Amino acid sequence: MSIGIPLRLMSEGDEFEEKRYDLTVIGGGLSGVCAAISAARHGLKVSLVNDRPVLGGNSSSEIRVSVGGADHDFRWARESGIVEELRIEDRYRNHESASNAKINSRWDMVLWEYVKREDGIDLYLNTTAREAVAKDGRIESVLAYQLGNERAYRIASDLYIDASGDGQVAFSAGAEYRMGRESRDEFGESLAPERSDKKTMGSSLMFRAVDTGRPVRFERPDWAREYRTDQDLPFRSHRRLDAGHWWIELGGTSDVIHDNEEIRDELLACLFGVWDHVKNKGDHGAERLALDWIGSVPGKRESRRFMGDHILTQDDIELRRGFPDVVAYGGWPIDLHPPDGIGGKQIPADIHAIPGIYQIPFRCLFSRNVENLMMAGRNISVTHVALGSTRLIATGAVEGQAVGAAAYLCRKYGKTPKEVCQDHIEELQQLILRDDCYLPNTRNRDPGDLARQAKVTSSSDMVLEETTPDSYVALDSELGLNFPVSTGYLESIDLHLRCSSPSGVEASLTLGTANNWDDKEPTEELLTSRAFVPRGDSWVTFDTDARFETDYCSIRLDPGPDIEWAMSARNLIGVQRTGPGDFKKLRGTYLFKTVPESRPYGGENVINGVARPEGWPNIWISDPRQQFPQSLQLSFQEDRRIRQIRLTFDTDIDRLVDIGPVPQCVRTYSLSYRTGGEWLDLLRVDENHHRLVVHDLDPVSADSVRVNVLETWGSPRASIYEVRIY
Ligand SMILES: Cc1cc2nc3c(=O)[nH]c(=O)nc-3n(C[C@H](O)[C@H](O)[C@H](O)COP(=O)(O)OP(=O)(O)OC[C@H]3O[C@@H](n4cnc5c(N)ncnc54)[C@H](O)[C@@H]3O)c2cc1C
Repeated sequence: MSIGIPLRLMSEGDEFEEKRYDLTVIGGGLSGVCAAISAARHGLKVSLVNDRPVLGGNSSSEIRVSVGGADHDFRWARESGIVEELRIEDRYRNHESASNAKINSRWDMVLWEYVKREDGIDLYLNTTAREAVAKDGRIESVLAYQLGNERAYRIASDLYIDASGDGQVAFSAGAEYRMGRESRDEFGESLAPERSDKKTMGSSLMFRAVDTGRPVRFERPDWAREYRTDQDLPFRSHRRLDAGHWWIELGGTSDVIHDNEEIRDELLACLFGVWDHVKNKGDHGAERLALDWIGSVPGKRESRRFMGDHILTQDDIELRRGFPDVVAYGGWPIDLHPPDGIGGKQIPADIHAIPGIYQIPFRCLFSRNVENLMMAGRNISVTHVALGSTRLIATGAVEGQAVGAAAYLCRKYGKTPKEVCQDHIEELQQLILRDDCYLPNTRNRDPGDLARQAKVTSSSDMVLEETTPDSYVALDSELGLNFPVSTGYLESIDLHLRCSSPSGVEASLTLGTANNWDDKEPTEELLTSRAFVPRGDSWVTFDTDARFETDYCSIRLDPGPDIEWAMSARNLIGVQRTGPGDFKKLRGTYLFKTVPESRPYGGENVINGVARPEGWPNIWISDPRQQFPQSLQLSFQEDRRIRQIRLTFDTDIDRLVDIGPVPQCVRTYSLSYRTGGEWLDLLRVDENHHRLVVHDLDPVSADSVRVNVLETWGSPRASIYEVRIY
């Protein structure tokens, strides 16, 4: 039996629950989650409003897009800060890999738990922020409706971050925006269409298939599309069948916001058509596969982009333009999907490589005409072409962390985001770095960090060499290495080579300078050195006798018949192997040693201001031949009052661990300090698996601090990127 209750209509005035915060974040995708956590950790009272039941946006188990970013093409480029904390926690807990098909609710729950554990955040799930109440270019409140409990809220706050993708709140507040593609001439973008139009990239539905171990029948529903031959799906690889296909994409030629429901239905018709194709139209090896999960929330790529004081363009990305107000970075190629989506006959993604990671200025992250509104994620101030790169989830996450920190400065100084950009950008950048985000070419200059004045010594440090072979690579084409040189001088270089010619052969090595590991060609060629390679396996010495002005050197071994170079599968931080193909994606290291030894992993790196490879490895690594414990000591000239120690460990920002803890990461460590000539224990941590660890202390007076590494998750080396002391 049901009792009929008259429908209660929500109306402004008496029905809204009044809420008040310092900051309201709209959208619980990764950009919004990182924004909310960042602001809350700086002491703000935050509301996080998400219209769906789980956090993560496109990366949630409701849509299942894997988190991507700058590390796809560039080494040691993975986004750090809060997004790293979340991903590392997920990898630590999850039993499945992080690829699209494997995304599961464990990830949603990591996000939920990390948000809920912040006292400063009130989380409103299932809550649509429908409208902004705005006056004189300022948002006063947001009206929000919650599903399932018939409650409505008027959420007032000083600042707003729209991280919702579509930007319903920003739009209703009257924030200037663009939607569609700019013409080629407007910003001089060669990748833009000749004429501007209203078209966007489309939305997609993902799926997951499982191998049932027995033949499974599939009958195409009559409402599904039919793709009779592979020619009906040109350029759309469907070899991999367990995960969905991002190219099941539609909506770019219609209105991707207002036609969302029609787009979803049509995407389902396409998805079932594609499944029918792999099951029933030719042998795709799908006989035992069954559809296990089908997305029902279209994942969107593009809609409104809100305009800030700067609009990021193709040139900004391709020229890697430096901005004085850099607060985030990107590194995905410019990846433009034609608006026709699956209906088109052209390639589904037009991908243009970019030369390196690029900067995103703060001026792209706040509205140019709504003074208390910031943005993060895919709706920031970029052109359609630039969005081809900036829309990545981890890029949005570091933008989110940046605007969360900016919100704190807005409150601290009683200023708008624009004023913070003008008056406090250095402080904002230093906050962002302190919280473990990376800003290209920006160093720690935090005057509060006592560690910067310390003298650092270590129990040992690793010599730069690789001597354990896992395989051999034939010298069919030029092979080489870029590596850091700590001595400014190289007398000789030894390479481990294997020769199959009975009488041996001569090999030729070119030595040059380089500015970094990612210089494909030497900056300057210094000399060529020849050496005789005898039959069999041997270490071959190339005399070099060269001095260096640069921190990096480049060696190139000329192609030669009958020679192979021994290779290790291990990666050395800040060392790049070069050879044929996309050299930035090459992993592993050729075997080499130098005379004199190069020692770029010294303890002093932990206070040099950069917490990842950039022009130098910037990490302390202990000598793997020595047992744990290994330690770092930071000593001051006189006693300092210490209330916080921040440690940045190595969670391998070159490659995300598949499952479990990161072998390089320090697991067990202790901190001790010296006062009045006596060493005292401070604390011990047993199961660390994170990159950034912050220890708030009852203040102590100390002239030295020691970090004692007792164990890692598998690596024989202790490695630490940064130590900060406050
Ligand atoms: C199929 C597909 C494949 C992709 N592949 C990749 C990839 O491999 N790697 C990658 O990094 N990126 C990929 N992308 C792009 C990426 O997913 C998006 O660009 C990114 O998720 C945008 O992040 P965001 O935080 O701005 O928005 P979202 O992730 O969409 O999060 C926005 C959140 O806000 C909520 N929201 C919206 N409106 C409101 C409202 N009015 N009130 C309250 N909440 C609201 C949404 O429900 C959502 O939870 C892909 C996209 C698609 C569709």
